[in-house]
Amino acid sequence: MDLVQECAGAKRIGISGHVRPDGDCVGACLALSLYLSKCLPDVCIRVFLEQPADIFKDIRGFGGINSAFPEEEKFDVFFALDTVPDRMGDAEKYFGDAAKTINIDHHVSNTGCGNVNVIEPQIGSTCEVLLDLMDRERIDVDIAMALYVGMIHDTGVFQYSNTTPATLEKAAFLISFGFDFSKIIEETFYQKTYLQSLIMGRALMESVRFLDDRCIVSVLDKQILEFYNASSKDLDGIVNQLRNIRGVDCAIFMYQTGSDEYKVSLRSTEKVDVAKVASYFGGGGHVRAAGCTMKGTFQDCVNDLSLHIEEQL
Ligand code: 5GP
Ligand code: MN
Repeated sequence: MDLVQECAGAKRIGISGHVRPDGDCVGACLALSLYLSKCLPDVCIRVFLEQPADIFKDIRGFGGINSAFPEEEKFDVFFALDTVPDRMGDAEKYFGDAAKTINIDHHVSNTGCGNVNVIEPQIGSTCEVLLDLMDRERIDVDIAMALYVGMIHDTGVFQYSNTTPATLEKAAFLISFGFDFSKIIEETFYQKTYLQSLIMGRALMESVRFLDDRCIVSVLDKQILEFYNASSKDLDGIVNQLRNIRGVDCAIFMYQTGSDEYKVSLRSTEKVDVAKVASYFGGGGHVRAAGCTMKGTFQDCVNDLSLHIEEQL
């Protein structure tokens, strides 16, 4: 697919990703917006996302992200990046109304929802998929940095098994633009605020192992989140920390979103296909990292998840 050709004749282009945007989602939306602005300087290009965490504020274009989702917007071409429409939140209306839709993603659970689809489940990040679609001659330092953020976040800084020789070749190309990649890794991936560290401590302290200690679960209820005045942005990294525990095959982190509703994050090391587990409950994701929203009490949710995980262990 040729990104620029697909936009031929368009006067207004919209770009969005998924709710609770992560590094890959923010990086991909901003990288594509910077790239198309460069290739198509006369076209109006808008990026819509729920307000991303401000650790991403150094990516060029961050300040121009629209998080208000006004009603009247119409687009000739609308891009859905790193997502399916039912996770687009308020941007779904633009996608539904656009003359042409393009879906670029790497989630194995996505079957493609655009008029044009590029879905590459074997590729580690949407940013990596995007780089393959760009003309390298037109990439500049700002685009390179945005793509790099997405790549490090979805590969766990090139640690996860979705990292390939091609991923590292692309990362090498990107860092050749000379941005401060150590600072980006430190500030967007490893550093936590004091509040985030306290909540992570709390979640670790209250975690419980089951299925012969091969599975671990921790939950934060509404009361605790309110006590710390924490939002979903403050909970990133907890499930990875649970998965890091020796002997754990599958980690579950849940936080309460309604009286009997939980947002669930799943991670596995090598045995459990968590995308399959999450898909069963209406969610999705990747083989080693997936999520869903579940209704019921905490105990009910864990029992249901446990049955599906046990089948695979
Ligand atoms: P996280 O646990 O970090 O929220 O998400 C892990 C992975 O699963 C990400 O790739 C994310 O996009 C995907 N994911 C998380 N929650 C959901 C969900 O409710 N539905 C779908 N389709 N994917 C999800
Ligand atoms: Mn992604």
